Amino acid sequence: MYQTPAPLLWTFDTQRNNKRNLVRGAVFRRAAAVKTLLKTIHSDLNISTMWLLIFLVWLIIWAGGTYWYLFGKPSPFSLESVRPPGPREFDQKKRDKVIKQGFSLDKVPQNLDVIVIGSGIGGLSAGATLAKAGKRVLVLEQHDQAGGCCHTYIEKGFEFDVGLHYIGQLHENSLLRIIFDQLSEGQLEFQELNQHFDTIQIGLGDEKREYTIFSGKTEMKAHLMKQFPDETEAIETFFKIMKVSAKKTHYLATLKLIPQWVSLFLLKSGIANLVSPVFRLSGTCATDLVNTLTSNKDLHVIFSYLFYGVPPKDSSILINALLVHHYKRGAYYPKGGASEIAFHIIRTIQKYGGNCLVRAPVSQILVNEKGAAYGVKVRKGQEEVEVHAPVVVSNCGIFTTFQKLLPPEIQVKHDIQERLNMMKHGRGSFLVFSGFDGTEEELGLVSTNFWLFKNNDMDKSMEDFFALSKEEAPDNIPMMFITMPSSKDPEAKIRHPGKSCMTILTMVKYEWFEEWKDTVVRKRGDEYHDYKMRFANNLFDWACTLFPKIKDKLVFQDVATPLTNMHYLGAQRGAMYSAEHNLDRFHAEAVARNRCNTPVKNLYISGQDVFSCGIAGALHGGLLCASTVLDHIVYIDLLILKKKLKRRKARELAQLAKKKLQ
Ligand SMILES: Cc1cc2nc3c(=O)[nH]c(=O)nc-3n(C[C@H](O)[C@H](O)[C@H](O)COP(=O)(O)OP(=O)(O)OC[C@H]3O[C@@H](n4cnc5c(N)ncnc54)[C@H](O)[C@@H]3O)c2cc1C
Repeated sequence: MYQTPAPLLWTFDTQRNNKRNLVRGAVFRRAAAVKTLLKTIHSDLNISTMWLLIFLVWLIIWAGGTYWYLFGKPSPFSLESVRPPGPREFDQKKRDKVIKQGFSLDKVPQNLDVIVIGSGIGGLSAGATLAKAGKRVLVLEQHDQAGGCCHTYIEKGFEFDVGLHYIGQLHENSLLRIIFDQLSEGQLEFQELNQHFDTIQIGLGDEKREYTIFSGKTEMKAHLMKQFPDETEAIETFFKIMKVSAKKTHYLATLKLIPQWVSLFLLKSGIANLVSPVFRLSGTCATDLVNTLTSNKDLHVIFSYLFYGVPPKDSSILINALLVHHYKRGAYYPKGGASEIAFHIIRTIQKYGGNCLVRAPVSQILVNEKGAAYGVKVRKGQEEVEVHAPVVVSNCGIFTTFQKLLPPEIQVKHDIQERLNMMKHGRGSFLVFSGFDGTEEELGLVSTNFWLFKNNDMDKSMEDFFALSKEEAPDNIPMMFITMPSSKDPEAKIRHPGKSCMTILTMVKYEWFEEWKDTVVRKRGDEYHDYKMRFANNLFDWACTLFPKIKDKLVFQDVATPLTNMHYLGAQRGAMYSAEHNLDRFHAEAVARNRCNTPVKNLYISGQDVFSCGIAGALHGGLLCASTVLDHIVYIDLLILKKKLKRRKARELAQLAKKKLQ
């Protein structure tokens, strides 16, 4: 029998034992690994569950907070506050009691919550919204009449509006119409103008081409295509841009309402661009874009004809598209004239315990040692009186607010300077107000506005014009706008029978008039008078080529320069639309940074410097400001109202149809 040698046995045993041990070790290790894995999974599960729970709690808090922020606060607006319009107040003395109430301390309401500086549409809309939300509001106006650009002035039986010639987007149940109804409690009425609301003339003499702009959901585009039959594709694309701009601009406005870091994160990360093209559009140069659509220079002018002092090469396509779109559903004019706007909105502010006082130039915003605004100083004769309130809304422009009204030690602060550096002063306006002895029928005047351009290169002609010397400028005006207020307001015939009026507008450089800046209004001397009349005569002669009958019937003429704007509207450097509407201002990031809050606690900005100029633009500036002060987005309330009104309209139509069938 073969016997296994001992060492071999030992070896074999050892090997077997080793193998067993190895297997056992492996099993142990695997078991340990599984144990560790299970432990890890277990603890991971605990951690995941914990994170899940944290996330759920955060989500619930966030959703609750958002719901409370959006819907938790009572709406300042209601359908019930809108009454049928009352009879128009023609008694000027009664009107003046509302729009020309002079400042004195005894007229300041007790326990003020908010002071608004400046009674333009931006200040009034912010003021009325805050008043309807339960705040006691005082609006202070430096001029002797409230309304800012919405005021009118009456001279020798003629009434001129200074900054409102037509407004769009006021069709039934439009957001803007609902806002005006809420702010005036149903008292403002608007006259829809002719469907043919604008005429554009390009060129002079035999070279002159004339285009007409019609309102109408489909008619505007169709009418344009009829005039440019070879450019249907370009027009189609421009209208698509108009649609996106109009439908999505509220995204841009939202950037001002959500925390700034969130806005900047959305923009910088590119998420915003995934959501909507509007964020890119706002920073796109108008000339660059229209060049990609067509080489037809006349059509380029049509796409940018509503000029606002910035050549298309320096402006945003979004703004140009929005301006054309603004009148797509019709052009309107306030019945009773532009001053009706201030008259009715002030009455709303008064109804809720507030007031609007004129001849109340604010000379300083009061700021306490903690850096918070707590009131204003108002100049009254030689004195300065203080009025206090926990919130100050400034509607007199970003430059006046930050450079003139804040105490000097705050003006120089970095964050104030940073806000100022985002903006430039806009171009000044030049207006010729003419009054005629004769009715519109006799003189051939119409409610349609006229936009005249000497050539079809807006970029070059604006650049060349603004580069001219003071001497050369009056004889080389490249463009102008003509409007006839007396033909727009159906009640003008009642208020001023047998008379008609015309306003001509162009844009000029402040520097051409600067040497007279320290002279007194209406006493600026012969040299100033002669200089401004050179502009005025050229503009008026140009207008006479369109309306030859007016020349012999001219019985009144007044001319306003940037210095006039500075005096009556408190506009820095006589700027027509306050800060310049250049491309930089409309880059989405700049939009997000230029908000109603300011680096000074309790001080807010309202009006045209918040988003854009225009009655609608400045009014939205007021509503964005009120939303910021209330920490509640009032647009949600307005959208809910809009839905209710649409449902009501649908019910009415259904009932009418039912009746017809019976
Ligand atoms: C000539 C012209 C024509 C226009 N045409 C149209 C048009 O047809 N359609 C349209 O939609 N828009 C038009 N606009 C633009 C529109 O009128 C304005 O963009 C808008 O009304 C500005 O409103 P706002 O409230 O921001 O400012 P503003 O109306 O300028 O109000 C600012 C107010 O602040 C006051 N103020 C200034 N400093 C002080 C101070 N220290 N203390 C107290 N008060 C102060 C001023 O006196 C003024 O009343 C036109 C503008 C101009 C100038």
